[in-house]
Amino acid sequence: MTEMLAPVDHSALAQLRAEFRGALVHPGDAEFDRVRAVWNGMHDRSPHLVARCVGAPDVAAALRYAAAAGRAVTVRGGGHNVAGTAVADEAVMIDLSLMRQVRVDPEALTAEADGGCLLGDVDAATTAHGLACPAGVVSHTGLAGLTLGGGYGWLARTWGLTCDHLVSAEVVLADGSIVEASEESHPELLWGLRGGGGNLGVVTRFTLRLRPVGEVFHRTGVFPLDQAPAALARYREFAEAQDNAMHAVGTLKVAGQQEWVPAELRGTPALFLTAAWFGEAAEGPARTDALFERAAGGRTQLMSYAQLQALGDFGEPHGHRYFTKSCYLTELSEGPVEQLVESARQLPSTLSAIDFEYLRGAISDDPGADAAFPRRDAPYICTVSAQWTDPAEDAACAAWSRTGVERLTPWQFGGAYVNYLQDEAPGKVAEVYGSERYERLAALKDRYDPQNVLAGNQNIAPATRR
Ligand code: FAD
Repeated sequence: MTEMLAPVDHSALAQLRAEFRGALVHPGDAEFDRVRAVWNGMHDRSPHLVARCVGAPDVAAALRYAAAAGRAVTVRGGGHNVAGTAVADEAVMIDLSLMRQVRVDPEALTAEADGGCLLGDVDAATTAHGLACPAGVVSHTGLAGLTLGGGYGWLARTWGLTCDHLVSAEVVLADGSIVEASEESHPELLWGLRGGGGNLGVVTRFTLRLRPVGEVFHRTGVFPLDQAPAALARYREFAEAQDNAMHAVGTLKVAGQQEWVPAELRGTPALFLTAAWFGEAAEGPARTDALFERAAGGRTQLMSYAQLQALGDFGEPHGHRYFTKSCYLTELSEGPVEQLVESARQLPSTLSAIDFEYLRGAISDDPGADAAFPRRDAPYICTVSAQWTDPAEDAACAAWSRTGVERLTPWQFGGAYVNYLQDEAPGKVAEVYGSERYERLAALKDRYDPQNVLAGNQNIAPATRR
């Protein structure tokens, strides 16, 4: 059955045109295909209108227009969400990508970042002052979606999640009103913005707490796949014994052509281990030797924090096809390692990868942190990410990713990271948050978005509409 679409409401559109300061892009306009595109090339969707906002009043006007015209709404920060939730057919896309200013207050150790900032925008502004807000590992990721869902990254073990650094926010609510969420004003809304996803309002400005950053010691080693079980046993021992200034991660993927990768490993599935040390740089080699002593090849670098943040930028470009499944793990013992290595033997494309990392540290140091973000005590996170370019490979790549996480079932910690959810079974979002947090978020949804206007996300259903 074809769903009936609301006809274009010309008077509502005229009202929007009269008050909107940004750009309104319609199907057929020259820019339409460019502005509707999101990072994951799997999501080729055609919105009714892309409202390219330049401030909170534009967001409010677009929300009012969508209500008057009977259209669904999606919100685009950086457009990176793997599930493509920023765009939907026939919806009004509230596009914040023209709003990317960052204002740093080095005395107060805070930054104000507009709702469409990419992580690289924030890093460029803050590192000029020797400061940073902990965030994700690819600089073209959107700050908004990442912060609202949590925000893991290189500094998370040292300082905590991005959402833990959210001091206050300017929020356009579903009815178009504009509020400030802070400890003093709408504190419960602030709690929900710290990890509850984009469910409660459109954030047009984030005020973030900053931390000092200096030079980073960065070391990577490569291991042949048949030596991965032994190397991963050492990784487990190493990662779990470190203090918060060390973050060590692993990836199973096809080795590239870098000169430090031994020729016989290039083009074959291999294990890469990486450590970033945020303490005294001179201590880096001795601090990391145990992890890399049997590596087949490797590289050591001193780099700025901004360089570290951009290291992952080229591996996951816009427009490729992606399918990701992710889970938390209780342990990285022989059982899950065997399964991970098996998945690596079956990599469906040269671009696909399995990433895992030991978490804890500052993420879990304060289990009562005042945030909706759940499961801070998860020991490991693992992501099985297929990446490819030919649509004919869609089914095989998605199946590999699904199987890769399913075979880890006996060691799963439960829940998942909301920002890595893709096509999940009903009830997954409730499982992610656990019943207490979910009910608290549903009560917030009742208060701030009772009609569930902001449903283009990993949705928290308002309690009164269930
Ligand atoms: P978008 O696709 O623009 O938006 C996703 C959803 O967020 C929207 O549907 C909406 O519900 C909500 N939203 C966006 N902007 C706003 C806003 N201003 N106000 C209210 N709601 C909004 N995550 C990590 O934690 N750490 C990482 O290191 C990390 N690395 C990544 C690397 C890559 C290559 C990719 C693709 C993703 C990575 N992620 C990481 C996941 C990332 O956190 C999510 O994809 C996140 O949704 C991206 O935010 P975005 O603004 O770009 O997303």
